[in-house]
Amino acid sequence: GDLFGIGHRVVHGGEEFREPTLIDDAVIAAIRRKIPLAPLHNPANLLGIEVTRARRPDVPQVAVFDTAFHHSLPPHAYHYAIPYQLYETLQIRRYGFHGTSHEYVAKAAASYLERSLGSLNLIVLHLGNGASAVAIQAGRSVDTSMGMTPLEGLMMGTRCGDIDPAIVFFLATTGGKSLEEIEGLLNSGSGLRGVCGENDMREALELAASGNERANLAIEMYAYRIKKYIGAYFAVLGRVDAVVFTAGIGENSAEVRARSCAGLSGLGIEIDPAKNGGRLAGVCEIQRKGTPVRILVVPTNEELEIAEETVACIRESIR
Ligand code: AMP
Repeated sequence: GDLFGIGHRVVHGGEEFREPTLIDDAVIAAIRRKIPLAPLHNPANLLGIEVTRARRPDVPQVAVFDTAFHHSLPPHAYHYAIPYQLYETLQIRRYGFHGTSHEYVAKAAASYLERSLGSLNLIVLHLGNGASAVAIQAGRSVDTSMGMTPLEGLMMGTRCGDIDPAIVFFLATTGGKSLEEIEGLLNSGSGLRGVCGENDMREALELAASGNERANLAIEMYAYRIKKYIGAYFAVLGRVDAVVFTAGIGENSAEVRARSCAGLSGLGIEIDPAKNGGRLAGVCEIQRKGTPVRILVVPTNEELEIAEETVACIRESIR
């Protein structure tokens, strides 16, 4: 009856959308133009918008973009080392995703630490079915592991993350695969699933606990990739106030958190096994006492963040 607004998660906003945006025909057309950048996601997001607009044309609707939080990336972080014209003509660059989650979690961490977000340097690890890392400097995203699409970066449930791009040519020439098959293989048949047959981390952990070596390898690869990104983003930031774990795996798997931070005491990052393995609820600290870098587990809440951004956007538009 008394809906105030409807907020939509839209995965790809390209360079155009830097903040939550009230949806009209022009915005829908712009989201449609971004389909080539996010062929798996933007069409589904548009379908949701079209259905709710048809049903409730009287209710204002807002698009909240997964890419928006990363609009602060500096050019040296978002450009790929390919011909510059490809950026100008096809907008090929790093955009980054999971922005709504990263922003929510960063704000929740700041509130927990009783600091302003603008005073904090954070490494946030969103580890769900999709996974991404972000380096946050003075509250703003300055680098992130996902790229032009969500395929780059960390190893994920079914996505490969970083690979040598020449593997794509090799699969086509020597492997005899079509481009469509390669896209499916790297998006849906890789990651944890590709290595051990299970895309769900709980299943992979159970298999590994029962002695399955491939599952153990998959989890070790998963954690090793996270560790490499923590190291890289430590170098990017210079000073890190907190490493933050979130999403299904980040919030729930003590084992993945422990493996990802193992051997990082030289950077001041050291987990307390008892705290890490304890029952966690809400925002929790799991670093060893006296170590300089806080390690936080923060439950994400993308729906709440989208709802709040939607309300703020509508209020702003009727002011
Ligand atoms: P999300 O996309 O945030 O819902 O996260 C999904 C991922 O979280 C899946 O790989 C799940 O297996 C994983 N996950 C959820 N609960 C647990 C748990 N208790 N231990 C390990 N992984 C978990």
